[in-house]
Amino acid sequence: MAIRNIREIGEEVLTRKCREVTEMTPRIRELIEDMLETMYEANGVGLAAPQVGVLKRIVVIDTTGEDPHILINPRIVESSGEQTGQEGCLSVPGKSGQVTRPNYVKVVALDVNMKEFELEGTELLARAICHELDHLDGHLYVEKVEGPLRDVTEDAEE
Ligand code: ZN
Repeated sequence: MAIRNIREIGEEVLTRKCREVTEMTPRIRELIEDMLETMYEANGVGLAAPQVGVLKRIVVIDTTGEDPHILINPRIVESSGEQTGQEGCLSVPGKSGQVTRPNYVKVVALDVNMKEFELEGTELLARAICHELDHLDGHLYVEKVEGPLRDVTEDAEE
């Protein structure tokens, strides 16, 4: 496993639409392992493949530090409610901003064995799912921020 370099706002790779994963390969398994390690090392709660420069529809999320979710080709099939709160991103270091997201989402994705599964999330998990899935279509939370971006020092970032 290896820590990968996290791409930052301004880099073109963060604005592109990612491609679906069609088969699991050793290379993609290694990418997923590296994404988890990179996310934990950066104290993030989520990381999308384009953030490490790979245009594939893969995200990793762990909002508790002990419950990693690996989502391949994820799509939101249900959402409801609303939450407004501070959000950050490992690709926008040192900043946070207020974003409104659904308070509940249900996502369908493939696991590392390319088997379909469902994941439901509320509150922080729902926020992280929405945030990370936006990355797969080339969008950053700063496009959705209500009001100014704030400077932060030690907040958990996504
Ligand atoms: Zn992000």
